[in-house]
Amino acid sequence: MQRIVLAARPQGEPTDDCFRLETADLPEPGEGEILVETAYMSLDPYMRGRMDDVKSYAAPVQIGDTMEAGAIGRVIKSNSPDFKEGDYAVGRFGWADHGVQPAKHCYKWDPAMGSPSLALGVLGMPGFTAWSGITAYGKLKAGETLVVGAATGPVGSMVGQLAKQAGLRVVGVAGGAEKCRMAVETFGFDACIDHRGKDAKAMREALRAECPDGIDVYFENVGGPTLGGVLPLMNLYGRIIVCGMIAWYNGQDDETAALPLGKFWRQILVNRLTVQGLLQTDHVKRMPEFFAEVGPKVASGEIAYVEDVAEGLENAPAAFRALLKGGNTGKMVVKLHG
Ligand code: NAP
Repeated sequence: MQRIVLAARPQGEPTDDCFRLETADLPEPGEGEILVETAYMSLDPYMRGRMDDVKSYAAPVQIGDTMEAGAIGRVIKSNSPDFKEGDYAVGRFGWADHGVQPAKHCYKWDPAMGSPSLALGVLGMPGFTAWSGITAYGKLKAGETLVVGAATGPVGSMVGQLAKQAGLRVVGVAGGAEKCRMAVETFGFDACIDHRGKDAKAMREALRAECPDGIDVYFENVGGPTLGGVLPLMNLYGRIIVCGMIAWYNGQDDETAALPLGKFWRQILVNRLTVQGLLQTDHVKRMPEFFAEVGPKVASGEIAYVEDVAEGLENAPAAFRALLKGGNTGKMVVKLHG
């Protein structure tokens, strides 16, 4: 088998020498475990955090260990009654073309739901993140205005579509004219603002123009100047769902890394804002509800999705580095034995 391990911890942006492609013997599944041949592997922004040796909601990857990833593969050996050979299993098989996991940490993918790659995007962790955050904390009301960054990615595009379906005005933020066009034309956003080259002040002015009634819900994916632009426009009883802050994942600071905390703190009071951290793993018990509600909408085309497929494990590091800078268009996956 082949796998990619963490070779060195990045200083700022990851470089190619942070990753190493290795060949290893195929692992033997133990009692209750399954061995899969990976069909698709997911690349996600959170992986950048796992490369740093800092305390977070999950332990860091150690030097020499396989990089972590959710993936979907065909079971080729099963020591569990829950999976048989040929089943598709979704689990944390890592950056590798084969993987072993305890069956109880995996779930089955029904091929009738569509391409197995969907299990990593619109009908997987990112889609579920958006749905769980919006349904648990959004308190959406028709006629309100919602703003979301990384608008064409798997989280942002799901957030925007759910909010549109709930009757809100939805304004996206994305990098470049092409992604902004996609947010409106493919995902049905009312408007989308290009964040490139804009500081917090310019973002505020652009957002003010597109959100004439202010902002009621901000689904935070990006931090940076977008956050700086959003905060002064939040309405009374507004909700901020803090899902990610990719502009700061490489640690580089910009003017908004030093957002005026005192001003923001006061604004929470004055506008009675709710600021809610979101971690999708807190909501996993609701996955059946998510599949039941969103699965048919994906099948019917009511919920759109876009995938960006890299081919081959050796291309995963470059694809991941691109993802952190907006080089992806849609959900980034790596096709292995798809
Ligand atoms: P994604 O959209 O596929 O990819 C990340 C996108 O972030 C890039 O394509 C880029 O889009 C945007 N970006 C990169 N640098 C940026 C910057 N400096 N300023 C503004 N935007 C920037 O990612 P995703 O998988 O949907 O995830 C979106 C967010 O949700 C991330 O912050 C992720 O960490 C978070 N997340 C959180 C959870 C949770 O449980 N809390 C779970 C899943 C994901 P543009 O080209 O449009 O700028």
